[in-house]
Amino acid sequence: NEARDQKSSCMIYHPSMDEKAYRRLVLTNDLYRAIENKEFHVLYQPQIDTRTGKIIALEALLRWDHPKKGRISPAEFIPIAEETGLIISIGEWVIRKVCQQLRKWQDDGFAPMGVAVNLSTLQFYQENLAERVEGILKEAGISPFCLELEITESMTINIEQSREALLKLKKLGVSISIDDFGTGYSSLQYLKQLAIDRIKIDQSFIRGLVHDQQDDVIVTTFISITQKMNIDVIAEGVETIDQLSILQQKQCHQVQGYLFSPPLTPETLTQQYYEIQNKAKEYVRVGLNRK
Ligand code: C2E
Ligand code: MG
Ligand code: MG
Ligand code: MG
Repeated sequence: NEARDQKSSCMIYHPSMDEKAYRRLVLTNDLYRAIENKEFHVLYQPQIDTRTGKIIALEALLRWDHPKKGRISPAEFIPIAEETGLIISIGEWVIRKVCQQLRKWQDDGFAPMGVAVNLSTLQFYQENLAERVEGILKEAGISPFCLELEITESMTINIEQSREALLKLKKLGVSISIDDFGTGYSSLQYLKQLAIDRIKIDQSFIRGLVHDQQDDVIVTTFISITQKMNIDVIAEGVETIDQLSILQQKQCHQVQGYLFSPPLTPETLTQQYYEIQNKAKEYVRVGLNRK
């Protein structure tokens, strides 16, 4: 604390910068023990079919509950995990956790459900990723068809290198989607050259959908391209019925967002599953009638 006080009295440093750097240092240090201290858990956000209102799949989203600092957003700790290389073990923990949860749901009598897991760049370029994923699936007794791995465009910069990793995963039966679609570079090359199953239209385009003509054009174009290439498309960050209705008119058949549900603990999701689905069915009906 003393060191911090001295620093913040120095004119070159902005005190808030100092605090940020200090926080980052603490988080970096604490991240090393977060797995063994059981500070991570996985939340699940449902994805909805815009024709039926049914829950079609889930996205797994990681949370870190720090003992002193409370809940830390993945936007803050994932970059630290990547920098330190910890993302390899954390990422593997997430996939294992998800598969165990899927096992549990199936044991409890639920029909097998697909779950999408975010993959980080480092993980993606890990040499034996496909083998490790295969091992985790086998261990939990989960079909590879239940697992989708999300990559972002910036990750696939090296198409040659990516193709090999992707082919191995695809051969295994795992699906691949491109997350935050439209925010990276030369997305169309990737769609063509890599066997992508689904794209996730970034929420920044969905936000402007109702009032921004350009976002409307962009989203329309994305949907049309995926239709012609036989790739699935999901819109992320859907928060209003107006957005849903426009997406329905554009023949976007999958959506995810706070309108339907935030990411939930597996227990809450199990408990509220039909409630969420009934509400979604109603929204889908209202959205379709709004044409
Ligand atoms: P993402 O993969 O694009 O995930 C979607 C983010 O949007 C999530 O934020 C989700 O909670 C949020 N979201 C969902 N619906 C809405 C909505 O209607 N409106 C708005 N404004 N936001 C919505 P979250 O959970 O904070 O995660 C942020 C990012 O952190 C994720 O973005 C993903 O890139 C990364 N992340 C999360 N979990 C993992 C993980 O297990 N591994 C890796 N490598 N990255 C992860
Ligand atoms: Mg994602
Ligand atoms: Mg992501
Ligand atoms: Mg995204």
